[in-house]
Amino acid sequence: MRWFYAVGKEKVGPLTEAEIGKLADDGTITDKTLVWTDGTKKWLPFAQAKAAPSTPPPPEQALETAVKKVACSQCNNSFPIDETIQYGGQRICASCKSAFFQKVKEGKNVSTTMTYGGFWIRFGAKFLDGIVTGLCYMVVAFAVGFMVQSDAENPGPLFFLFFVQMAIPAVYTTFFLGKFQATPGKMAAGLIVVSPDGGRISYGRAFGRHLGEFLSSIILGIGYLMAAFDNEKRTLHDRICSTRVIKKR
Ligand SMILES: [Zn+2]
Repeated sequence: MRWFYAVGKEKVGPLTEAEIGKLADDGTITDKTLVWTDGTKKWLPFAQAKAAPSTPPPPEQALETAVKKVACSQCNNSFPIDETIQYGGQRICASCKSAFFQKVKEGKNVSTTMTYGGFWIRFGAKFLDGIVTGLCYMVVAFAVGFMVQSDAENPGPLFFLFFVQMAIPAVYTTFFLGKFQATPGKMAAGLIVVSPDGGRISYGRAFGRHLGEFLSSIILGIGYLMAAFDNEKRTLHDRICSTRVIKKR
């Protein structure tokens, strides 16, 4: 493996690992000296290059890393891991980077600990969403009631309304969680629904979570109540779909 090191703007090398070791011993190369190796394929401070694996990962693994999405600890959006930088165990995206380091410079608290939304604030959010979806349903129900009579001989409209009653919350929840990470009720409460690493959830997961909520409610709401006793404030549907509800920063 070839090594190069930088003296000002000049590169020196190629050198062998043994030669580099010798230069490090005599102090020509310090931990801060920029070095380039076939392993890292980029200029890094010697301290980092030493720690890097000596051979690049195979294509499959490199690709996996390239497409792996992580959540920016600042804006909570997902980015390919390579487009983020790491700072003290958190990932920061390119657009949040300068604001983030400004905060670091000013000595502000930049810890990433997620603050989970507790039972009562989530109850309030759910209540608001219930009002919104309930109103939507009532509009449809009134309209249908005006247009058609429904009775034992003509149960069609009732079945239709039952379907509407199921569909409105499903569409509402899936759309808002997939697109904005929060339903209007959760937005009002300052909450968002995220994956365990703090990333965005897909529409599919949002829909699955909605189905999970059915389960939480048909067992007498115990699924919801579980949030009050969980260290990550997870409801049953959060456990099933591997989601967390956190306070938006
Ligand atoms: Zn960001």
